[in-house]
Amino acid sequence: MAIIGAHVSAAGGLHNCFANAEAIGAECLQIFGASPRQWTANLPSAAAVKQFKAEEKRSGLGPVFLHAAYLVNLGSSLSELRSKSVASLASHLKIVELIGARGLIFHIGSAGKGSRREAIELVAHGMKSVLDRVPGKAQLIMENGAGGGGKLGATPEEIGEIFRLVKNKRVKVCLDTQHAFAAGVLASYSPEEIRATVKRFDDALGWENVVALHANDSQSRSGSFHDRHENIGEGYIGLGGFRNLAADPDINGRPWILEVPGFANDGPDARNVAILKKIFGQAAAV
Ligand SMILES: [Zn+2]
Repeated sequence: MAIIGAHVSAAGGLHNCFANAEAIGAECLQIFGASPRQWTANLPSAAAVKQFKAEEKRSGLGPVFLHAAYLVNLGSSLSELRSKSVASLASHLKIVELIGARGLIFHIGSAGKGSRREAIELVAHGMKSVLDRVPGKAQLIMENGAGGGGKLGATPEEIGEIFRLVKNKRVKVCLDTQHAFAAGVLASYSPEEIRATVKRFDDALGWENVVALHANDSQSRSGSFHDRHENIGEGYIGLGGFRNLAADPDINGRPWILEVPGFANDGPDARNVAILKKIFGQAAAV
């Protein structure tokens, strides 16, 4: 069975994410462990961790993923930016470890105008440093990008390259449906194309390492390379595309995390969650 969830707010205390998820019917969740627009991240106190775990137990929701800060770029040619990125990811990963969440999802980064080959090696090197700094079970999860310009990790093959360079069991992958569409990896969302994409990921890094999906429709066309999320069924992927995903046995067992604008422009909402749950109902009936 799929686990349908969403990115929710953890404002006012990390434990608040569970009540926020319950309010929209989300079963699994993603949060920011600290402000996504700042380099520094405060670690939760022992009392905050206790409160988080109590709420997690009470709600029965999960898994919980954290999303990294937007400023991070491990592939930057600027060493200062890279070391800040390593420090930021390590703090957020430490929060994952402290609260017992599943992992930290991050954007792989960009080579900018620099060499792509070098940037890939820098990303792998940075990821190793992050993992070294935070021992434990917390997973470091690469998210596929929308591509374009020097952006890294839009294709299963490039993500696989980094995966093999880092060579650590705690490295995993999150597949964002909108990014895959914008990058032209999943351009039609036909059952055949979905099968072929699962096979590409399987060949590149082992499908079992794709541990979560970001379920987002797309405001921009396939091949646009634009990272623009849309509510489920309102974009170019459409309900048909999501039905095909839900019908695929390799895809549907994963946690599905909405990162959509919401019908009231207030982030993932009950209506988007309900649409996804309905799609699964329909997929099961086929
Ligand atoms: Zn995403």
